Amino acid sequence: MLQGQKNLQLLNEPKQIVITTHHKPDGDALGSSLGLYHWLKAKGHQVQVVLSSDFPTFLDWMPGRDEVVIYPDAPDITEQLIRDAEIIFCLDYSALNRTNILEPLIQNSQAQKWMIDHHLDPEDFAQLSLWDSNAAATAQLIYTFIAEVNGDSSGITADIATCLYAGIMTDTGSFRFRSTTSAVHHIIACLIDAGARNWEIHEKIYNSATENRLKFLGYCLLNCLEVLPEYNTALFAINKEDLQKFNVTTGDTEGLVNYALSVKGVRLAALFIDRTELIKLSLRSIGDIPCNEICKVHFNGGGHLNASGGSSNETLSQVVNRFKSILPDYKEILTK
Ligand code: 5GP
Ligand code: MN
Repeated sequence: MLQGQKNLQLLNEPKQIVITTHHKPDGDALGSSLGLYHWLKAKGHQVQVVLSSDFPTFLDWMPGRDEVVIYPDAPDITEQLIRDAEIIFCLDYSALNRTNILEPLIQNSQAQKWMIDHHLDPEDFAQLSLWDSNAAATAQLIYTFIAEVNGDSSGITADIATCLYAGIMTDTGSFRFRSTTSAVHHIIACLIDAGARNWEIHEKIYNSATENRLKFLGYCLLNCLEVLPEYNTALFAINKEDLQKFNVTTGDTEGLVNYALSVKGVRLAALFIDRTELIKLSLRSIGDIPCNEICKVHFNGGGHLNASGGSSNETLSQVVNRFKSILPDYKEILTK
């Protein structure tokens, strides 16, 4: 699992380290990054978390979030940091293009790349990697990494525990998904013992909706949900006007796709959003239905078996129609 272990000796001396994660970081991406950030800083390294974009407001309480550098806000500083880095951590992604505008900077950097991730089909760019597609979250692997390097988990402070707890909690849908093994619950118990205030973290992440976000959710449920019973599939298609009308910002659509999956009998759920120049697509499934294959083959994306994403440069209705046209190929598995 841990490959390139000999490179760990680099951490014996203070190093200049940059932590990167995927574009539009989710709870696991930011939680892993900040958890590792606190640990490396306590070890005496110079560390910066560098992001390609902002992150959802429901994560805007995580310890260390004020220290994060966002590339579009500080391009010169970001470029300098990546240029000077001796080690670049690549967290919660294993394909460099998931870092969006940071990709060329990371690619051109002389730094060692250390990848810690749980996505399928990793690229071969890292000198050290801790990769496990069975891990529930990258934050789980950060816990393993720290425990392995330290020899035990005594280096996990309350701040680290809080960030890692948030990462595991969000990537497991609050410990609901199949990936939530007893090993995950053991780690969660250790994180609580180390000072993660679990009830507070749930409160901050799940009870932080604005009135506007809730009204947008109501609007989508009423107007944008389409159920296709013959394929046990449901989808939301959200157009630009609706996004503007509700002033939708990063994170406001997070979790929306799960409402489509919560319809009784539905085994495949899709969310199409016309937010940028591309249509962004999120897929969720139950059982063996391969969201990642559908995204990889048809929508220039990928991800996990039951949770994947992709994008398309077609119009919203074209993408939705293309998605519908694919469903007959999967009819057997969708209806079994
Ligand atoms: P979400 O639907 O929450 O944006 O993404 C769910 C999962 O799909 C992510 O954790 C990630 O693994 C994967 N994913 C999302 N968008 C993309 C994409 O554009 N390309 C690839 N390869 N994977 C993606
Ligand atoms: Mn993750």
